[in-house]
Amino acid sequence: MFNNLSEKLDKALHTLRGRGQITEINVAETTKEIRRALLDADVNFKIAKEFTNRVKEKAIGQDVLTSLQPGQLMVKIVKDELTELMGGDAEGIDLSGNPSVILMSGLQGSGKTTFSGKLANFLKRKKSKNPLLVACDVYRPAAIDQLHVVGDQIGVSVYSDKENKNPVSLAQAGIAHAKANGHNVVIIDTAGRLAVDQEMMDEISNIRDAVKPQEILFVVDSMTGQDAVNTAKSFNDVLDFDGVVLTKLDGDTRGGAAISIKSVVDKPIKFIGTGEKMDAVDIFHPARMADRILGMGDVVSLVERAQEQFDEEQARRIQKKIAKNRFGFDDFLSQIQQIKKMGSMKDLIGMIPGAGKAMKGLDIDDDAFKHIEAIIHSMTPAERSNPALLDAKRKKRIAKGSGTSIQEVNQLLKQFTQMSKMMKMMQGGGGKKMMQMMQN
Ligand code: GDP
Repeated sequence: MFNNLSEKLDKALHTLRGRGQITEINVAETTKEIRRALLDADVNFKIAKEFTNRVKEKAIGQDVLTSLQPGQLMVKIVKDELTELMGGDAEGIDLSGNPSVILMSGLQGSGKTTFSGKLANFLKRKKSKNPLLVACDVYRPAAIDQLHVVGDQIGVSVYSDKENKNPVSLAQAGIAHAKANGHNVVIIDTAGRLAVDQEMMDEISNIRDAVKPQEILFVVDSMTGQDAVNTAKSFNDVLDFDGVVLTKLDGDTRGGAAISIKSVVDKPIKFIGTGEKMDAVDIFHPARMADRILGMGDVVSLVERAQEQFDEEQARRIQKKIAKNRFGFDDFLSQIQQIKKMGSMKDLIGMIPGAGKAMKGLDIDDDAFKHIEAIIHSMTPAERSNPALLDAKRKKRIAKGSGTSIQEVNQLLKQFTQMSKMMKMMQGGGGKKMMQMMQN
């Protein structure tokens, strides 16, 4: 996420970091470089200029010049200003209605349908809501089918009616359906077009006037940079929406949209999309995003994700197995599955402070687990619970069955043995023993 911007900001701030004393000229140079980094990231020119002016003023006002660690103080100023620019505190969505109606708006291809599904999934799993998705794109039957596919994936009902070509009455029928079937949230996916046009704006305004949603969200593709900001402005002028959803932040986004949108439309970014899967969505936290942009990682989100996936029951079961020397490949597999649920590897590594920079240029393979899973799936249940059974003949069979090589099977076995040993030592309160093992 925002690799280029992070790198350039890091460079800009680096020159100050090592110095014990700096001058007003140093500050001016650094802020100039920061401005250039922002412009390269496709941040609106005026916003970049105002931003760096504020940073400069604050830096000189806060005695960066006489501070013992001017570099660090400067990083803090930039971080605070970035956070402020992106919206200050995280903002939630209004779920006060019964049902609460959430209207999606945005151009075709922005990720509206995908996000409608992600939001329904999020509300169902994390807020214990019973959402209904309503398909209001009367022009593209494929869009209705797509919403059904999404609904099936996450186990959420979808209301659609291909005979009804009136989006307003469709939205109303959807809400009536929700009321009759006990759904407490209605998410209305509307038709988008390739560019902003009057007809689309009239249509969505009519839906809004008829259903009076608690929340109007504007979905936009972050890859489109300044265009995203301009489109947001056009939609907001007509709809006066409540929040922005920035999608495709997992791609090669330069960051301009995330940084500029709040100050242009004065509406908060509420969610970000970080992948095509239904769980690739996060609440937008400006301060955490500022940390990530400045290469400081996002430990808070990482821990939150780990906590969400942490299954106490399973942890206890595994602990017992380790104690009894019964940790097997099935357990290994379930651990991998838990890690995978936390998100893509690239995303997770980006949350570790400094890791993004350290791993730069490395192609992190999200399919890395696939081979391991295939190997384990090719074992018999007996082999999984008792890896000692794995002789040369069995290994050959497993390599063949999983489409891997004997070397890969051996490597996995070695890793598994090391991991089991380590877990056993940690359990036995053997921190000291482990240190010894690592030194040997
Ligand atoms: P709509 O026309 O606005 O409903 O857009 P869709 O929901 O159909 O999304 C358009 C394309 O973008 C689809 O291929 C989605 O899989 C993809 N997409 C949506 N959100 C994300 C995201 O956060 N990350 C990535 N990588 N792809 C996304």
